[in-house]
Formats: sequence, C-alpha cells, structure tokens
Amino acid sequence: MLNFLTVFLKERPLMDKKKIEKGVRLILEGIGEDPERAGIKDTPRRIAELYEEIFSGLQTPTEEILKPIEGESHDEMVILKDIPFYSVCEHHLLPFIGKAHIAYVPSGGKIVGLSKLARAMEIFAKRPQVQERLTTQLADLIMEKLKPKGAMVIIDAEHLCLSMRGIKKPNARTMTSAVRGIFRTKESTRIEFLELINRRD
Ligand SMILES: [Zn+2]
Repeated sequence: MLNFLTVFLKERPLMDKKKIEKGVRLILEGIGEDPERAGIKDTPRRIAELYEEIFSGLQTPTEEILKPIEGESHDEMVILKDIPFYSVCEHHLLPFIGKAHIAYVPSGGKIVGLSKLARAMEIFAKRPQVQERLTTQLADLIMEKLKPKGAMVIIDAEHLCLSMRGIKKPNARTMTSAVRGIFRTKESTRIEFLELINRRD
C-alpha cells in the first residue's frame, strides 16, 4: 500500500495553492476587477482552499478502494441508487451536480461494502471531469476490481455551464450510462436495474 502510494504521489504533483492564488488574482484582474478591493482581497486564498477540497480526488488513488469482502457468497444484482455527487466540468470549471445509480452482478461472491462504491464515485467526482468519463471510469473500476458478471452506471446531472450561459437551459438534465457485461448482453438484467432505479416508493 505504502509503495503504491509513493509511486502514485510521485506521478501526480501535490496541489500548489500559491499557484492557484496567483491564477485567481490574474482572473480577477482580467475581468476588470480590483484584486485589492476589500470584498475580494481574500478570494484567491479562499478559492485555493476550496480547490484543494473539490479537486482532492487528483491526489487520492482509487486502486485500494474496491477490495472485495472475504468469504461472501452473494451472486444477485447489487444496486446503489440516488448517490448524490458534486463534480466540476473540466471545460468551464463550473459545477455539475446530480445523482448516480450503480449496479453490478457479482461473480464468485466478490462484493464490496456499499459505502466503498459511493467513495469511489466521490474520488472520481473530485477531479476535473466530463460526465461521460466519470460514468465509464466508475463502471470500468468495478469491472476491473470485482470481475463481476456485469456492471452498469447511470449518471443524471445538471451542468451549470449549460444552465448559466449560452443556450441557458435551466434544469436541463444530462444522462449518461456505461453498460458492461451481462447488462449489455441480457436485456432482462438491464430492464431489472432500470425498473428498480425508477421506482419511487
Ligand atoms: Zn462545461
């Protein structure tokens, strides 16, 4: 674990908050603000602290998260629905916010704690992202670590870069899905998952 962490951290430089502060000051100047104005004097520091938190997924490896629980024998579909998440669109650095639904059908009894799935989602979400990649990264991690019969991830989100600017479509939702293994080959499995996530009771 330690060895792995060392390698991981070597590959990814630690966050440089001073650099972020400098950049934000330049942005404020660029938009015609006075970065020394009382109200925004501390904004570069605040943003640097905020970014440290909302981009912390860049410094967090996902490798160790989905370790199967030993000695389990569950082979039915496992579903985690309505996981709230907050991420940041890498094209505009504005938030996209929504819910994720995750399902997999274990193979050989290999399952993980449900909180681990939510945690993996959170790590991926706390990186500059596009919704499509967030969806496939999660499905691929489940396939790689649990070797299940299949996995499916659906993400439903609102992008502030769409709602706030340009075409201005408030509340428009973007849906993405990643479908792997049995969810791709067996329609009834896919439908079972879709029915369960759409059920509101
Ligand atoms: Zn965007």
